Amino acid sequence: MPSLHRVPPAAPALPNGAFGFRLMAMLAVPTFVLDTDCRVMIWNKACERLTGVAAGDVLGTRDHWRSFHQAPRPTLADLVMQNRCGELSQLYPLPAIHPAEDGALCAESWCDMPRVGARRYLAADASPIHDEAGSLVAAVQTLRDMTDEKLAQAALEQLATRDGLTGLANRRCFDDTLHAEWARALRQKQPLSLLMVDVDNFKDYNDANGHLGGDECLKRIARAVANEMRANDLVARYGGEEFAVILPNQSLKGAAIVAERIRSRVERLTMPTGTGNPAGPGCVTVSIGAATAIAAADTSAHQLVAIADAALYRAKHMGRNRISLPLTELR
Ligand code: GH3
Ligand code: MG
Ligand code: MG
Repeated sequence: MPSLHRVPPAAPALPNGAFGFRLMAMLAVPTFVLDTDCRVMIWNKACERLTGVAAGDVLGTRDHWRSFHQAPRPTLADLVMQNRCGELSQLYPLPAIHPAEDGALCAESWCDMPRVGARRYLAADASPIHDEAGSLVAAVQTLRDMTDEKLAQAALEQLATRDGLTGLANRRCFDDTLHAEWARALRQKQPLSLLMVDVDNFKDYNDANGHLGGDECLKRIARAVANEMRANDLVARYGGEEFAVILPNQSLKGAAIVAERIRSRVERLTMPTGTGNPAGPGCVTVSIGAATAIAAADTSAHQLVAIADAALYRAKHMGRNRISLPLTELR
């Protein structure tokens, strides 16, 4: 086992000399130090524990990045030492970069941690170390494992924006997205389409199959609808057995095509209604109302919802398992 307290022979003198080395080696915070050549001078015990990489494997090398990433990538300490702090924003998305002073860098990101074999969310701080004459002699990087906090935060975000039963966006997320997309459509003078999808005779389905059977049916419909969507579309559970689909930059004609695809896909799931109604379709179906707006200052997203709702009502009235369109786009 290599000694963590050993000062590599070529190491320049750090402030407070060997005492500084010993202090960093004993720190409970994962810490490593690079020399002016970006070679590892210190790799403390806590850093060994975090990365699964023994100090003996990295001391004196420039291989420290391998402890965090699969492909070559400078650490914050490398950027500090090589005066490349300006590259930080190319390596990290903006919200992950935190303000720091005096040539220090502070950022957080997911790391692959090849030796540990698990991804970890690490917050890193790197600072330059100067000697008494003010020359840069080393760069120190400390790390904090924030994986648990990050996962908890993701779970909270999931709770706040996702519907528990289907995993689709929830009503709140739908409302927020619709207003954001409305504002964007207004700015860009692009059409915005909305589909309201409602399961036909679902009360009867519940009566015949039980509430849990109804839940399973809703989950399958949700998956089927979601599978018809492009990356920028949003499918939400609007309420009970009703789903809403936001289609940015989609004309009424395009919305009608998507609506028909959804209708026929649900039909092709051929989920027996189990209601024994000989006049019924025999399998679960949906009705869909569509609406499209060329957003204008004197119209609102609420009107779009009302028009799609009215179209849905007409689809139900005309016998269900069909789509219905308004005559014109809202302008
Ligand atoms: P229509 O074709 O006119 O839409 O008829 P419907 O029976 O689907 O409409 P109605 O509004 O009368 O009934 C909706 C039913 O959906 C009643 C309610 O119990 C059921 N439902 C709403 N949310 C859930 C849910 O989360 N799980 C289950 N299993 N059923 C639900
Ligand atoms: Mg219904
Ligand atoms: Mg309904």
